[in-house]
Amino acid sequence: MIVMKFGGSSVANRAQIDKVREIVVARRPQQPLVVSSAHKGITDALVAAARGAARGEDTAASVIDRQRKVADELECPPSLLATIYEELSLLLKGISLVRELSPRSLDYVSSFGERMAVRCIADYFGRHGQPARACDAWDLGFITDARWGAARPLPGYEEAVRAAWARLGGDEAVLIATGFIGKTQAGEVTTVGRNGSDLTCTLLAAALGAEEAEIWSDTDGVMTADPNIVKQARNIPRMRFDEAAELAYFGSRVLHPSTLVPAMARQIPVRVLNTNRPEHPGTVIEANPPASPAPATSIAYKERQTAVTISSTKMFGQAGFLGRVFEILGRHQVVVDLVTTSEVSVSFTTDRPQALEAALPELREHGEVTLAADKTILVVVGRHLPERPGQAAEILGAIGDAGVNVEMISYARNSINLTVLLDDKDIATVVPVLHRILFER
Ligand code: ASP
Ligand code: MG
Repeated sequence: MIVMKFGGSSVANRAQIDKVREIVVARRPQQPLVVSSAHKGITDALVAAARGAARGEDTAASVIDRQRKVADELECPPSLLATIYEELSLLLKGISLVRELSPRSLDYVSSFGERMAVRCIADYFGRHGQPARACDAWDLGFITDARWGAARPLPGYEEAVRAAWARLGGDEAVLIATGFIGKTQAGEVTTVGRNGSDLTCTLLAAALGAEEAEIWSDTDGVMTADPNIVKQARNIPRMRFDEAAELAYFGSRVLHPSTLVPAMARQIPVRVLNTNRPEHPGTVIEANPPASPAPATSIAYKERQTAVTISSTKMFGQAGFLGRVFEILGRHQVVVDLVTTSEVSVSFTTDRPQALEAALPELREHGEVTLAADKTILVVVGRHLPERPGQAAEILGAIGDAGVNVEMISYARNSINLTVLLDDKDIATVVPVLHRILFER
Protein backbone atom coordinates (compact mmCIF):
# COMPACT_ATOMS: atom_id res chain seq x y z
CA MET A 1 0.00 0.00 0.00
CA ILE A 2 1.01 3.66 -0.29
CA VAL A 3 0.08 6.84 1.60
CA MET A 4 -0.58 9.94 -0.52
CA LYS A 5 -0.79 13.39 1.02
CA PHE A 6 -2.32 16.34 -0.79
CA GLY A 7 -1.55 19.86 0.44
CA GLY A 8 -3.86 22.85 0.72
CA SER A 9 -3.21 24.14 -2.80
CA SER A 10 -3.83 20.66 -4.25
CA VAL A 11 -7.34 20.65 -2.75
CA ALA A 12 -7.97 24.39 -3.03
CA ASN A 13 -11.03 24.16 -5.31
CA ARG A 14 -12.96 21.93 -7.67
CA ALA A 15 -10.46 22.15 -10.52
CA GLN A 16 -7.66 21.05 -8.21
CA ILE A 17 -9.73 18.34 -6.55
CA ASP A 18 -10.50 16.94 -10.01
CA LYS A 19 -6.76 16.60 -10.59
CA VAL A 20 -6.42 14.85 -7.23
CA ARG A 21 -9.21 12.46 -8.17
CA GLU A 22 -7.49 11.47 -11.40
CA ILE A 23 -4.19 10.95 -9.59
CA VAL A 24 -5.83 8.80 -6.91
CA VAL A 25 -7.78 6.73 -9.44
CA ALA A 26 -4.54 6.00 -11.30
CA ARG A 27 -2.99 4.77 -8.02
CA ARG A 28 -5.85 2.43 -7.11
CA PRO A 29 -3.82 -0.75 -7.77
CA GLN A 30 -1.34 0.38 -5.08
CA GLN A 31 -4.05 0.53 -2.39
CA PRO A 32 -3.67 4.18 -1.45
CA LEU A 33 -4.53 5.77 1.85
CA VAL A 34 -5.16 9.45 1.07
CA VAL A 35 -4.26 12.16 3.60
CA SER A 36 -5.57 15.65 2.97
CA SER A 37 -4.85 19.15 4.25
CA ALA A 38 -7.55 21.77 4.63
CA HIS A 39 -8.46 23.71 1.48
CA LYS A 40 -5.90 26.45 0.86
CA GLY A 41 -6.32 29.39 3.26
CA ILE A 42 -8.88 27.75 5.55
CA THR A 43 -6.50 27.01 8.43
CA ASP A 44 -5.27 30.61 8.35
CA ALA A 45 -8.90 31.76 8.37
CA LEU A 46 -9.70 29.49 11.33
CA VAL A 47 -6.72 30.79 13.31
CA ALA A 48 -7.76 34.38 12.54
CA ALA A 49 -11.34 33.57 13.55
CA ALA A 50 -10.15 32.11 16.85
CA ARG A 51 -8.02 35.18 17.58
CA GLY A 52 -10.90 37.49 16.66
CA ALA A 53 -13.26 35.55 18.90
CA ALA A 54 -10.81 35.95 21.77
CA ARG A 55 -11.19 39.72 21.31
CA GLY A 56 -14.94 39.29 21.62
CA GLU A 57 -15.70 39.42 17.90
CA ASP A 58 -18.31 37.31 16.15
CA THR A 59 -16.15 35.48 13.60
CA ALA A 60 -17.89 32.19 12.76
CA ALA A 61 -19.84 33.38 9.71
CA SER A 62 -16.82 34.57 7.74
CA VAL A 63 -14.84 31.36 8.04
CA ILE A 64 -17.88 29.14 7.48
CA ASP A 65 -18.75 31.13 4.35
CA ARG A 66 -15.29 30.47 3.05
CA GLN A 67 -15.63 26.72 3.49
CA ARG A 68 -19.16 26.85 2.06
CA LYS A 69 -17.84 28.37 -1.18
CA VAL A 70 -15.68 25.30 -1.78
CA ALA A 71 -18.46 22.92 -0.71
CA ASP A 72 -20.92 24.66 -3.04
CA GLU A 73 -18.52 24.54 -5.93
CA LEU A 74 -18.21 20.79 -5.30
CA GLU A 75 -22.04 20.59 -5.17
CA CYS A 76 -21.98 18.92 -1.76
CA PRO A 77 -25.39 18.65 -0.08
CA PRO A 78 -25.86 21.39 2.56
CA SER A 79 -26.48 18.73 5.19
CA LEU A 80 -22.95 17.32 4.75
CA LEU A 81 -21.23 19.83 7.03
CA ALA A 82 -24.24 21.16 8.96
CA THR A 83 -23.31 19.63 12.33
CA ILE A 84 -19.64 20.59 11.90
CA TYR A 85 -20.58 24.21 11.16
CA GLU A 86 -22.75 24.18 14.27
CA GLU A 87 -19.93 22.79 16.41
CA LEU A 88 -17.52 25.43 15.07
CA SER A 89 -20.01 28.25 15.65
CA LEU A 90 -20.59 27.14 19.24
CA LEU A 91 -16.88 26.84 19.89
CA LEU A 92 -16.10 30.32 18.51
CA LYS A 93 -19.07 31.72 20.43
CA GLY A 94 -17.68 30.19 23.62
CA ILE A 95 -14.24 31.67 23.00
CA SER A 96 -15.77 35.10 22.38
CA LEU A 97 -17.75 34.86 25.64
CA VAL A 98 -14.76 34.02 27.82
CA ARG A 99 -12.41 36.15 25.65
CA GLU A 100 -9.68 33.65 26.13
CA LEU A 101 -7.86 31.44 23.65
CA SER A 102 -5.77 28.69 25.17
CA PRO A 103 -3.36 26.67 23.00
CA ARG A 104 -5.75 23.78 23.48
CA SER A 105 -8.74 25.76 22.13
CA LEU A 106 -6.63 27.02 19.23
CA ASP A 107 -5.85 23.42 18.25
CA TYR A 108 -9.53 22.55 18.46
CA VAL A 109 -10.52 25.47 16.19
CA SER A 110 -7.64 24.80 13.76
CA SER A 111 -8.71 21.18 13.35
CA PHE A 112 -11.94 22.04 11.55
CA GLY A 113 -10.23 22.75 8.20
CA GLU A 114 -9.12 19.16 7.67
CA ARG A 115 -12.32 17.71 9.11
CA MET A 116 -14.42 19.72 6.67
CA ALA A 117 -12.13 19.15 3.69
CA VAL A 118 -12.04 15.34 3.85
CA ARG A 119 -15.83 15.17 4.04
CA CYS A 120 -16.28 17.40 1.01
CA ILE A 121 -13.62 15.60 -1.02
CA ALA A 122 -14.93 12.10 -0.22
CA ASP A 123 -18.47 13.18 -1.04
CA TYR A 124 -17.33 14.71 -4.33
CA PHE A 125 -15.26 11.66 -5.30
CA GLY A 126 -18.27 9.43 -4.62
CA ARG A 127 -20.45 11.42 -7.01
CA HIS A 128 -17.72 11.36 -9.67
CA GLY A 129 -16.94 7.72 -10.09
CA GLN A 130 -14.57 7.00 -7.22
CA PRO A 131 -16.23 5.72 -4.04
CA ALA A 132 -14.50 7.25 -1.01
CA ARG A 133 -14.86 7.49 2.73
CA ALA A 134 -13.85 10.43 4.93
CA CYS A 135 -12.00 9.59 8.10
CA ASP A 136 -10.77 11.65 11.04
CA ALA A 137 -7.20 10.65 11.82
CA TRP A 138 -8.14 9.59 15.36
CA ASP A 139 -10.44 6.95 13.91
CA LEU A 140 -7.33 5.63 12.18
CA GLY A 141 -5.51 5.26 15.50
CA PHE A 142 -3.83 8.66 15.45
CA ILE A 143 -3.93 9.20 19.21
CA THR A 144 -1.42 11.76 20.47
CA ASP A 145 0.09 13.34 23.55
CA ALA A 146 -1.30 16.69 24.72
CA ARG A 147 1.44 19.02 23.43
CA TRP A 148 -0.87 21.53 21.79
CA GLY A 149 0.43 22.73 18.44
CA ALA A 150 3.19 20.11 18.43
CA ALA A 151 1.43 16.86 19.33
CA ARG A 152 2.96 13.50 18.43
CA PRO A 153 1.36 10.05 18.37
CA LEU A 154 1.68 8.03 21.57
CA PRO A 155 4.20 5.20 21.61
CA GLY A 156 2.61 2.10 20.16
CA TYR A 157 0.22 4.06 17.90
CA GLU A 158 1.43 1.96 14.97
CA GLU A 159 -0.50 -1.06 16.11
CA ALA A 160 -3.74 0.93 16.45
CA VAL A 161 -3.22 2.37 12.96
CA ARG A 162 -2.65 -1.09 11.49
CA ALA A 163 -5.76 -2.45 13.16
CA ALA A 164 -7.86 0.48 11.94
CA TRP A 165 -6.50 0.16 8.40
CA ALA A 166 -7.29 -3.57 8.38
CA ARG A 167 -10.85 -2.66 9.33
CA LEU A 168 -11.40 0.42 7.16
CA GLY A 169 -8.92 0.42 4.32
CA GLY A 170 -8.03 -1.34 1.15
CA ASP A 171 -11.52 -1.95 -0.24
CA GLU A 172 -13.25 -0.31 -3.17
CA ALA A 173 -13.89 2.96 -1.34
CA VAL A 174 -10.71 5.02 -0.96
CA LEU A 175 -10.11 6.21 2.59
CA ILE A 176 -9.46 9.96 2.84
CA ALA A 177 -8.01 10.85 6.23
CA THR A 178 -7.35 14.21 7.85
CA GLY A 179 -3.76 15.41 8.01
CA PHE A 180 -2.52 17.72 10.76
CA ILE A 181 -4.90 16.68 13.58
CA GLY A 182 -5.22 14.03 16.27
CA LYS A 183 -6.84 13.40 19.60
CA THR A 184 -5.54 12.66 23.07
CA GLN A 185 -6.62 9.57 24.92
CA ALA A 186 -9.01 11.83 26.85
CA GLY A 187 -10.61 12.87 23.54
CA GLU A 188 -9.20 16.40 23.25
CA VAL A 189 -8.36 17.53 19.72
CA THR A 190 -4.68 18.23 18.99
CA THR A 191 -2.59 19.33 16.01
CA VAL A 192 0.94 18.32 15.06
CA GLY A 193 1.82 21.91 14.08
CA ARG A 194 1.26 24.21 11.09
CA ASN A 195 1.92 22.57 7.73
CA GLY A 196 1.99 19.28 9.57
CA SER A 197 -0.05 17.14 7.18
CA ASP A 198 3.22 15.95 5.63
CA LEU A 199 4.18 14.61 9.02
CA THR A 200 0.83 12.87 9.45
CA CYS A 201 1.47 11.23 6.08
CA THR A 202 4.88 9.83 6.99
CA LEU A 203 3.74 8.80 10.48
CA LEU A 204 0.89 6.80 8.96
CA ALA A 205 3.16 5.40 6.24
CA ALA A 206 5.65 4.30 8.91
CA ALA A 207 2.92 2.67 10.99
CA LEU A 208 1.55 0.81 7.98
CA GLY A 209 4.95 -0.14 6.53
CA ALA A 210 3.89 1.54 3.28
CA GLU A 211 5.88 0.94 0.11
CA GLU A 212 6.10 4.69 -0.35
CA ALA A 213 4.82 7.99 1.03
CA GLU A 214 3.85 10.53 -1.62
CA ILE A 215 3.72 14.24 -0.83
CA TRP A 216 1.73 16.05 -3.50
CA SER A 217 2.04 19.83 -3.66
CA ASP A 218 2.60 22.47 -6.31
CA THR A 219 6.30 22.23 -7.18
CA ASP A 220 8.19 19.66 -9.24
CA GLY A 221 9.68 17.97 -6.21
CA VAL A 222 12.59 19.46 -4.27
CA MET A 223 14.65 22.03 -6.16
CA THR A 224 18.36 22.81 -6.22
CA ALA A 225 17.58 26.34 -4.97
CA ASP A 226 14.64 28.66 -4.41
CA PRO A 227 13.24 29.19 -7.94
CA ASN A 228 12.16 32.70 -6.91
CA ILE A 229 15.83 33.68 -6.62
CA VAL A 230 17.45 31.36 -9.15
CA LYS A 231 15.73 31.05 -12.53
CA GLN A 232 17.92 28.06 -13.39
CA ALA A 233 16.90 26.11 -10.27
CA ARG A 234 16.02 22.56 -11.21
CA ASN A 235 14.51 19.46 -9.79
CA ILE A 236 16.61 17.05 -7.70
CA PRO A 237 15.60 13.55 -8.91
CA ARG A 238 16.95 11.59 -5.93
CA MET A 239 18.32 12.55 -2.57
CA ARG A 240 19.22 10.96 0.73
CA PHE A 241 17.06 11.27 3.86
CA ASP A 242 19.61 13.33 5.79
CA GLU A 243 20.07 15.74 2.87
CA ALA A 244 16.35 16.34 2.66
CA ALA A 245 16.02 16.71 6.44
CA GLU A 246 18.76 19.37 6.39
CA LEU A 247 16.93 21.23 3.62
CA ALA A 248 13.53 20.98 5.22
CA TYR A 249 14.94 22.61 8.32
CA PHE A 250 16.85 25.32 6.48
CA GLY A 251 14.10 27.05 4.70
CA SER A 252 13.10 24.84 1.79
CA ARG A 253 9.35 25.39 1.80
CA VAL A 254 8.50 22.01 0.33
CA LEU A 255 8.54 19.78 3.39
CA HIS A 256 7.67 20.21 7.05
CA PRO A 257 10.98 19.81 8.95
CA SER A 258 9.93 16.73 10.95
CA THR A 259 8.41 14.92 7.96
CA LEU A 260 11.37 12.71 7.24
CA VAL A 261 11.96 11.40 10.74
CA PRO A 262 9.35 8.60 10.67
CA ALA A 263 10.17 7.69 7.06
CA MET A 264 13.89 7.53 7.84
CA ALA A 265 13.33 5.28 10.82
CA ARG A 266 11.43 2.76 8.70
CA GLN A 267 13.33 3.43 5.45
CA ILE A 268 10.16 4.29 3.58
CA PRO A 269 10.91 6.29 0.42
CA VAL A 270 9.20 9.67 0.28
CA ARG A 271 8.32 10.98 -3.15
CA VAL A 272 7.60 14.70 -3.61
CA LEU A 273 5.26 15.30 -6.55
CA ASN A 274 3.36 18.08 -8.31
CA THR A 275 -0.44 17.82 -8.48
CA ASN A 276 -0.42 20.18 -11.46
CA ARG A 277 2.10 18.05 -13.38
CA PRO A 278 1.53 14.47 -12.24
CA GLU A 279 3.66 13.10 -15.09
CA HIS A 280 6.77 14.79 -13.63
CA PRO A 281 8.81 12.24 -11.61
CA GLY A 282 9.43 14.73 -8.77
CA THR A 283 12.01 13.89 -6.10
CA VAL A 284 12.53 10.56 -4.38
CA ILE A 285 14.00 10.83 -0.89
CA GLU A 286 15.49 7.51 0.16
CA ALA A 287 18.16 5.75 2.20
CA ASN A 288 20.68 4.97 -0.55
CA PRO A 289 20.37 7.09 -3.67
CA PRO A 290 22.93 6.43 -6.41
CA ALA A 291 26.07 8.59 -6.60
CA SER A 292 25.49 11.92 -8.29
CA PRO A 293 27.98 13.72 -10.53
CA ALA A 294 26.85 17.13 -9.18
CA PRO A 295 29.17 18.52 -6.50
CA ALA A 296 26.23 19.29 -4.19
CA THR A 297 22.52 18.54 -3.90
CA SER A 298 20.90 21.82 -2.99
CA ILE A 299 21.34 25.33 -1.58
CA ALA A 300 19.03 26.59 1.15
CA TYR A 301 18.98 29.53 3.50
CA LYS A 302 17.23 31.00 6.49
CA GLU A 303 17.01 34.78 6.76
CA ARG A 304 16.41 37.19 9.63
CA GLN A 305 18.76 35.50 12.08
CA THR A 306 20.49 37.21 14.95
CA ALA A 307 24.17 36.49 15.53
CA VAL A 308 25.49 36.70 19.08
CA THR A 309 29.13 36.78 20.15
CA ILE A 310 30.28 36.39 23.74
CA SER A 311 33.92 37.35 24.25
CA SER A 312 35.69 36.63 27.47
CA THR A 313 39.20 36.01 28.66
CA LYS A 314 37.60 33.79 31.30
CA MET A 315 37.08 31.22 28.56
CA PHE A 316 40.79 30.75 28.13
CA GLY A 317 41.71 27.21 29.16
CA GLN A 318 38.64 26.88 31.38
CA ALA A 319 36.32 23.91 31.70
CA GLY A 320 32.58 24.41 31.73
CA PHE A 321 32.35 27.85 30.12
CA LEU A 322 30.33 26.71 27.10
CA GLY A 323 28.22 24.52 29.35
CA ARG A 324 27.22 27.52 31.45
CA VAL A 325 26.42 29.66 28.40
CA PHE A 326 24.29 27.00 26.74
CA GLU A 327 22.50 26.18 29.98
CA ILE A 328 21.29 29.80 30.06
CA LEU A 329 20.20 29.62 26.41
CA GLY A 330 18.35 26.36 27.00
CA ARG A 331 16.54 27.68 30.05
CA HIS A 332 15.32 30.72 28.06
CA GLN A 333 14.26 28.57 25.08
CA VAL A 334 16.75 30.24 22.75
CA VAL A 335 16.92 27.86 19.78
CA VAL A 336 20.49 27.88 18.44
CA ASP A 337 21.35 26.91 14.85
CA LEU A 338 24.94 27.75 14.05
CA VAL A 339 27.80 27.72 16.59
CA THR A 340 31.48 28.61 16.27
CA THR A 341 34.08 28.96 19.02
CA SER A 342 37.61 30.21 19.52
CA GLU A 343 39.74 30.41 22.63
CA VAL A 344 38.31 33.78 23.60
CA SER A 345 34.83 33.90 22.09
CA VAL A 346 31.79 31.89 21.18
CA SER A 347 29.35 32.93 18.46
CA PHE A 348 25.96 31.48 17.70
CA THR A 349 22.82 32.35 15.75
CA THR A 350 19.17 32.23 16.69
CA ASP A 351 15.83 33.24 15.23
CA ARG A 352 14.28 33.86 18.64
CA PRO A 353 15.16 37.50 19.39
CA GLN A 354 12.61 37.76 22.21
CA ALA A 355 13.87 34.71 24.06
CA LEU A 356 17.39 36.00 23.52
CA GLU A 357 16.48 39.39 25.00
CA ALA A 358 15.41 37.65 28.20
CA ALA A 359 18.67 35.68 28.36
CA LEU A 360 20.97 38.69 27.81
CA PRO A 361 21.45 39.86 31.41
CA GLU A 362 22.65 36.41 32.44
CA LEU A 363 24.83 36.02 29.34
CA ARG A 364 26.51 39.35 30.13
CA GLU A 365 27.75 37.90 33.41
CA HIS A 366 29.97 35.62 31.32
CA GLY A 367 31.57 38.13 28.99
CA GLU A 368 31.04 40.97 26.61
CA VAL A 369 27.99 40.28 24.42
CA THR A 370 27.56 41.77 20.95
CA LEU A 371 24.51 41.28 18.73
CA ALA A 372 24.06 41.59 14.98
CA ALA A 373 20.63 41.30 13.37
CA ASP A 374 19.52 40.72 9.74
CA LYS A 375 21.82 37.78 9.08
CA THR A 376 21.25 34.77 6.84
CA ILE A 377 22.38 31.20 7.40
CA LEU A 378 23.24 29.75 4.02
CA VAL A 379 23.65 26.00 3.70
CA VAL A 380 25.09 23.99 0.84
CA VAL A 381 23.88 20.42 1.27
CA GLY A 382 25.45 17.47 -0.49
CA ARG A 383 26.07 13.86 0.46
CA HIS A 384 29.35 13.93 -1.50
CA LEU A 385 30.80 16.98 0.28
CA PRO A 386 32.95 14.92 2.68
CA GLU A 387 34.53 12.92 -0.17
CA ARG A 388 35.36 15.66 -2.66
CA PRO A 389 38.47 17.67 -1.75
CA GLY A 390 38.43 21.34 -2.68
CA GLN A 391 34.68 21.69 -2.63
CA ALA A 392 34.60 23.98 0.40
CA ALA A 393 37.39 26.14 -1.05
CA GLU A 394 35.45 26.52 -4.27
CA ILE A 395 32.25 27.55 -2.46
CA LEU A 396 34.00 30.07 -0.21
CA GLY A 397 36.09 31.36 -3.11
CA ALA A 398 32.98 32.03 -5.19
CA ILE A 399 31.37 33.95 -2.32
CA GLY A 400 34.54 36.00 -1.93
CA ASP A 401 34.77 36.67 -5.67
CA ALA A 402 31.23 38.03 -5.49
CA GLY A 403 32.53 40.61 -3.01
CA VAL A 404 30.50 39.20 -0.13
CA ASN A 405 31.83 38.85 3.39
CA VAL A 406 31.42 35.55 5.27
CA GLU A 407 30.99 36.09 9.02
CA MET A 408 30.79 32.56 10.39
CA ILE A 409 31.64 29.16 8.90
CA SER A 410 30.66 25.72 10.10
CA TYR A 411 31.69 22.42 8.62
CA ALA A 412 31.79 19.30 10.73
CA ARG A 413 33.66 16.06 10.26
CA ASN A 414 31.92 13.93 7.60
CA SER A 415 29.30 16.63 7.38
CA ILE A 416 26.89 16.78 4.47
CA ASN A 417 26.43 20.52 4.88
CA LEU A 418 28.71 23.52 4.70
CA THR A 419 27.11 26.43 6.51
CA VAL A 420 28.04 30.11 6.38
CA LEU A 421 26.60 33.31 7.82
CA LEU A 422 26.02 36.32 5.56
CA ASP A 423 24.08 39.56 5.61
CA ASP A 424 20.43 39.22 4.56
CA LYS A 425 21.07 41.73 1.80
CA ASP A 426 23.73 39.51 0.18
CA ILE A 427 21.57 36.46 -0.31
CA ALA A 428 20.21 37.47 -3.72
CA THR A 429 23.81 37.85 -4.94
CA VAL A 430 25.29 34.73 -3.41
CA VAL A 431 22.67 32.08 -4.17
CA PRO A 432 22.76 32.51 -7.98
CA VAL A 433 26.59 32.56 -7.92
CA LEU A 434 26.76 29.30 -5.96
CA HIS A 435 24.07 27.78 -8.12
CA ARG A 436 26.16 28.52 -11.18
CA ILE A 437 29.30 26.79 -9.89
CA LEU A 438 27.50 23.85 -8.29
CA PHE A 439 24.72 23.06 -10.75
CA GLU A 440 25.15 24.85 -14.05
CA ARG A 441 28.51 23.56 -15.22
N1 ASP B 1 -3.88 22.85 7.19
C1 ASP B 1 -2.72 22.89 8.04
C2 ASP B 1 -1.98 24.19 7.86
O1 ASP B 1 -2.36 25.01 7.04
C3 ASP B 1 -1.84 21.70 7.83
C4 ASP B 1 -1.23 21.56 6.47
O2 ASP B 1 -1.60 22.26 5.53
O3 ASP B 1 -0.33 20.73 6.31
O4 ASP B 1 -1.04 24.44 8.55
MG1 MG C 1 0.18 23.25 3.71
